[in-house]
Amino acid sequence: MTRDMPAHPSRFEMLADAIRRYLAMHPASSDTVEGIAGWVVSAVASATADEVRGALSHLEARGEVAVRHAAGGEPVYARTDAMPAIGVETLRIGVDLGGTKTEIVALDAEGRERVRRREATPREDYEAIIALVARLVRDAEDACGARVGSARVGIGTPGSLSPATGLLRGSNSVCMNGMPVKRDLEQRLARAVALANDANCFTLSEATDGAGRGADVVFGVILGTGVGGGLTVHGRLLEGCNAIAGEWGHNPLPWPRDDERPGPDCFCGQTGCIETWLSGPALVRDYRHHGGTDCESTQAIVAGAEQADARCEATLARYEERLARALAHVVNIVDPDVIVLGGGLSNIARWYRSVPGLWTRWIFSDRVDTKLVRNVHGDSSGVRGAAWLAR
Ligand SMILES: [Zn+2]
Repeated sequence: MTRDMPAHPSRFEMLADAIRRYLAMHPASSDTVEGIAGWVVSAVASATADEVRGALSHLEARGEVAVRHAAGGEPVYARTDAMPAIGVETLRIGVDLGGTKTEIVALDAEGRERVRRREATPREDYEAIIALVARLVRDAEDACGARVGSARVGIGTPGSLSPATGLLRGSNSVCMNGMPVKRDLEQRLARAVALANDANCFTLSEATDGAGRGADVVFGVILGTGVGGGLTVHGRLLEGCNAIAGEWGHNPLPWPRDDERPGPDCFCGQTGCIETWLSGPALVRDYRHHGGTDCESTQAIVAGAEQADARCEATLARYEERLARALAHVVNIVDPDVIVLGGGLSNIARWYRSVPGLWTRWIFSDRVDTKLVRNVHGDSSGVRGAAWLAR
């Protein structure tokens, strides 16, 4: 006997049965207490809204009925097994846990954004970061009218979890390195949480409903302060047994010319990594290395090339030829249908024209159908991809 069992169980059971019959006839709709009471009164004479509410609570406690607290409206009830069909239990929440900002998005079953918020990340305070994520998730569920604890949650963050220890490594939010981020978030949120690095989230976002939508194999590339990558196969991330699949930025630049050897020092301890040639700072460094002095940024170099500045033009020509070589290496191994570029340098339009003309020389095939495309979701890809992680 549960505590909310009323004094007259027979009448109560009649009410519960009437509600079951009503919901069986309308499995995919949801209704308010008053709406259900209006129908139930024909089966159980003079049933009041309070009695119906009590019976609904009992059915909810038994898992037969699910309730949704719509924002600003009455709670609505439906059969638990019908809730996914009306988009309540399929709320996906993505959190992009960046070094300076933390962003959250809630997507419904069709991928529409229901909530999006952004807050400063409490740097150097691990406990405060975990608490912030928990609060943002709870508030987003509330704002969507979803039961607190019902949404699936995915987290995107720099760095990756060690498959061996479960501890985060390689994050630029250094207070998170060496911490069991996934386990702590699962404990705080009382549910399973999916976690992936930002390049993987970018790739999953573009493969799901972005520039790589519908493609079998998508290689996503981040060209920004650093160079990273991710790989999806049939819409799912390929993580790999070391959790580094797609991490091409610390492979050496392939087919190096004599003046490219040994290449610049990399923070990872090697020299000549792809990242040391294709990141934003690398492009500016290469411009200076060839005598450029006027431009301080990639944007200035691009603007200079558009005004026919020879040094700027030559810098971009070297960059795109290296990008073609680096991507040809990927095509020769995984042969993706689509390569999607993201990060600040993906906004330079000429790559999409020039690189496919250059990479054929290095790709071991008589024809190349791989498409090189710009991302669709821009800065939102990280947080959207984190939401799609949550399956
Ligand atoms: Zn490196």
